[in-house]
Amino acid sequence: MELLSRRTVLQRAGALGAMAGLAPGLAHAATLDSDLFTSDEAGLLVDSVVVLGERSAVLVDAQFTAANANLLADMIAATGRTLESILITHIHPDHVLGLPILLDRFPQARAYAQTDIQAILAQILGGMHAQIAGGAPAGVFPDRYVVPEALSADHIMLEGERIEILPPMAGDTALITPVHIPGLDTLVATDIAYIDTHLWMEEAATTDGIAPWRDSVAALQAIGAGTVIPGHRKPDSPNDASVFDATLAYLDHWERARDASGTAEEFRARLMEGTEELGFAFAIDRGVAAAFPE
Ligand SMILES: [Zn+2]
Repeated sequence: MELLSRRTVLQRAGALGAMAGLAPGLAHAATLDSDLFTSDEAGLLVDSVVVLGERSAVLVDAQFTAANANLLADMIAATGRTLESILITHIHPDHVLGLPILLDRFPQARAYAQTDIQAILAQILGGMHAQIAGGAPAGVFPDRYVVPEALSADHIMLEGERIEILPPMAGDTALITPVHIPGLDTLVATDIAYIDTHLWMEEAATTDGIAPWRDSVAALQAIGAGTVIPGHRKPDSPNDASVFDATLAYLDHWERARDASGTAEEFRARLMEGTEELGFAFAIDRGVAAAFPE
């Protein structure tokens, strides 16, 4: 039997792609696909992405409430793939508290977070879970939490395709690892980009906090991915490069409203001008309080 080198396989795949009228570079992408899950407003409109190989899958972010995590698990089960890995992109509870439900449903899966992010989660996730789940009716959140394993590698392999984990960068919190899937022309921007929702501004309320966020947006825009999945959006909102413009426009609006205001009440009123229709209203009070502390 002839053993083919990867280059030979890719050349042949390229030839097949050309025969089918496709650009050669697109031919090998046919093995990957993806599914997107967006939570309801109670789950804070969080996106989770399932990268699908032919037999296996990798999940990016694990949802907030038990109900949304279960719906996500149903969606993964319906693909028929074996869930191998779950990557948690940052420390926020709306991306990690649902993790035990995914691990119960897919016990063979292993959950990871980048080393620095994992170290913080190991310190704070217990307290975060106690505060949030303890303050809600039973069953709204999983009754336990799971700290993901530390991942020092800059990628996860899925059936021979690289899922690139970008170095931590700032967005709505200091350390976020976006995920680039070249084989799908897809960038999972997670909480560096939002569209049609308010932004979580509590940790980036000052100009010093916002500047590195803008830098991260610029770095992700430069990748030029065709599909860009933000951390939060409404279920029918776009997932393309326009999410970056939406994020920058909100940051501009936020800074202008803040700088024109002398009190929290004034700021809140200005912030709400033109943003009444946005989702994730839960973020507003915490951001306003951070900009105008009592
Ligand atoms: Zn988030």
